[in-house]
Amino acid sequence: MFRDFRKISPRIFWLVTLAALAVLLTVVAVPQWLSKQARLEVLRSHVAEIAQIAASVVDGDLHRQLLEPANYTPDLYERTVAPLVRVHSADPEIFYVYTMVERNGKSFFVVDTAASSKLKTTRKLRPSAYMEPFESIDAEPDPDYLQRIANGETYVYPTFQRDVYGTFLSGHTPIYDSQGRYSGFVGVDFDLKYYLAQEASFRSILYGSLAGAVLIALLIGYVVARYHFHVQDRIDEQYRISIRDELTQLLNRRGALRFAREALGTQASSYAVILVDIDDLKGINDIYGHAAGDEFIVKVAETIRGSVREKDICARMGGDEFLIFATGCDLDASTEIARRILGKVYAHDGASGRSHFGVSIGICVAVGANSTFETMYRQADEALYKAKTAGRNRFVIFDPLAAA
Ligand code: GH3
Ligand code: MG
Repeated sequence: MFRDFRKISPRIFWLVTLAALAVLLTVVAVPQWLSKQARLEVLRSHVAEIAQIAASVVDGDLHRQLLEPANYTPDLYERTVAPLVRVHSADPEIFYVYTMVERNGKSFFVVDTAASSKLKTTRKLRPSAYMEPFESIDAEPDPDYLQRIANGETYVYPTFQRDVYGTFLSGHTPIYDSQGRYSGFVGVDFDLKYYLAQEASFRSILYGSLAGAVLIALLIGYVVARYHFHVQDRIDEQYRISIRDELTQLLNRRGALRFAREALGTQASSYAVILVDIDDLKGINDIYGHAAGDEFIVKVAETIRGSVREKDICARMGGDEFLIFATGCDLDASTEIARRILGKVYAHDGASGRSHFGVSIGICVAVGANSTFETMYRQADEALYKAKTAGRNRFVIFDPLAAA
């Protein structure tokens, strides 16, 4: 069972697994990445909206007065910050709400809700002092962000910021006085605790689906590789059957041609084609029956197989004709094989009145690789014909001089 489980084509397994993985990962990861971007966009517009709401409640005229340090009084400060304190107290997800002003490319805090005793919050906040210069923590805003805010844009930081209290995203939006003049801007630091917790759960969904994709890809790879192995196995089996003779289990003509041509491609000193044809099989069939004829065919096949080397090609070319194709086999070795076969096959049955059970053999030996299989086969066949006409139960070697 376990051995069966391992019957797969490893190359197909890895190819299909990787292809399936590429498709599945794309199908899983791309939509998740897009939805992550969409969620981030929602968060950014949410922060922008809170900043806009905060800016809308600030009294622009009061704020404008407060921009001049000469105008500063605790009362002016308190009146300016009061509406922002109400907004801040209403939204527990806000870290800080403050206003700022730009002086020579630098930002300074104006009011900070954390400085108000009226702020309702559970957080421990550190208020920024009036006109305290702003130092950016870790996320750098765009270099032109102050210009963009001055031009009326609501600016949300490109990346998240982190401090000892947690992670937050800052949004800024301009404040205008009653005459529509730009009078500083509001800043809101929005706590990302909830957002990050949500993202963490989305991340486990992503990891889960990625792991699922890997498993499915492995499964698809395995099933396809298993099927491929099965089909290949069947094809191999069909091929093995297609080149074998069913009765004798020797190669058939197709198999003989394939292996003989292959063998001719190897570098050998000589090649021998030995054709063996049963003598008067028709007569044997007639007297003893077709089954006995078959038996004799099998006996001749076994004799042939047992008379040559393991690597020599033995085939039943059809009917009662057999072929031996032997590489590195010279004339002496070929005649030795022929003698051996004749000696083992021959039998005499006096009772039936038949002369013998035997074979006739034609031999052709080619030295070097100058001959083709077809030529050698034809020449061995000529020699076989001579053996038949000369009285059967013998071998004849093809003689090129006699043929010429
Ligand atoms: P020869 O000595 O000239 O070869 O005589 P032969 O009777 O063997 O004649 P030939 O080789 O020309 O014909 C082969 C005969 O072998 C024809 C057919 O009756 C018989 N034969 C062919 N295939 C089979 C087979 O699979 N089984 C049996 N029993 N006989 C077959
Ligand atoms: Mg015959």
